[in-house]
Amino acid sequence: MKDLQRNEKLIIDKNIPNPGIFAIVPIVRGEIIFYFDRHFVATPTNISMRVDEHRHQLSTDPTLPENFLNHSCAPTSFVDFEILALKALRDILPGEQITYNYYTSDWDDEDVFECHCGASDCHRYIRGFKNLPIEQRLKIKDFLSPFLLSKFYDGLSKDQKICHPGRRSVWGPALGGDLTKI
Ligand SMILES: [Zn+2]
Repeated sequence: MKDLQRNEKLIIDKNIPNPGIFAIVPIVRGEIIFYFDRHFVATPTNISMRVDEHRHQLSTDPTLPENFLNHSCAPTSFVDFEILALKALRDILPGEQITYNYYTSDWDDEDVFECHCGASDCHRYIRGFKNLPIEQRLKIKDFLSPFLLSKFYDGLSKDQKICHPGRRSVWGPALGGDLTKI
């Protein structure tokens, strides 16, 4: 059933320099795009996704879309870590790439890479949440993995530790993370 759902919405394009997954039907904001293949390993790999301190999601099936999920600084989707599903961050049109922000799950900079997403506020070099200043951490707070929420203040100087990440309602809706409501 899960595979059927994936195939109805997505196509994996391997004929481009950086293979990725693309919508083939309109997807509406908040919609579940797919469920991850709930399989956890203790040691990360270059395609695993960190969920908790000692749990890294790593599909047992290398053909699944989750293995081709690329980063963007202006992503079209986000990971709902409570149900381990990928959801649409906004309405997505057929042909658009399904991406998520690696900063919402990557802590350190073991796999630094150069980003070419084209977003006006592109980070350029993707180095892990540990390297983000407080302003940028707050912008993605609603989308962080449990592990990164537990590390929210780590690596910051004392004067940057001014806000409480648990106060979700203060920082706007779960979707969008609207900082204008502060
Ligand atoms: Zn970027």
